Amino acid sequence: MRPVTEHDIRTSFVNCSKGEAKRLDLPKDLADHPWDDLDFLGWRDPGAPERAYLVVERDGLLVGIALRVTAGGSRRFTSRSMCSLCLTTHTGGGVALMTARRTGEAGRQGDSVGRYLCVDLACSLYSRGKKEAAGAGVVDESLTPEEKVARTRANLRSFLDKVVA
Ligand SMILES: [Zn+2]
Repeated sequence: MRPVTEHDIRTSFVNCSKGEAKRLDLPKDLADHPWDDLDFLGWRDPGAPERAYLVVERDGLLVGIALRVTAGGSRRFTSRSMCSLCLTTHTGGGVALMTARRTGEAGRQGDSVGRYLCVDLACSLYSRGKKEAAGAGVVDESLTPEEKVARTRANLRSFLDKVVA
């Protein structure tokens, strides 16, 4: 994705209040992010671990989605769970259920969409092989990094389509 500024991010949110978008903690060192390797910018709020954010380009517009981390997943080392975007398998709580309030009337009625996502929201790096999941075993996958990136983007797109009315 192309590099974005603090202003871009704060004005991109579609499913939280303007006040929340103004106050939320942004990732540090925005200028140093590996933008070329990112399909989206995702981060956990350091001051509020139950909050996570995801900013992505959709049809040429920047769309920010506020997420609630509603379950930390199992912490048992032996249990595995899979991210619904990049399909990376993690052990020991590396995946969490994150829920986004839908936009528009559906959101006002309290409707939301939940997905199991990598807790560090580094799906872009996992699909490119630039980061490895802790405790990951041999994964039986024959896809190239390019194919994995395309798959992650398609999964993200379908998630956004459900959140944005
Ligand atoms: Zn992921």
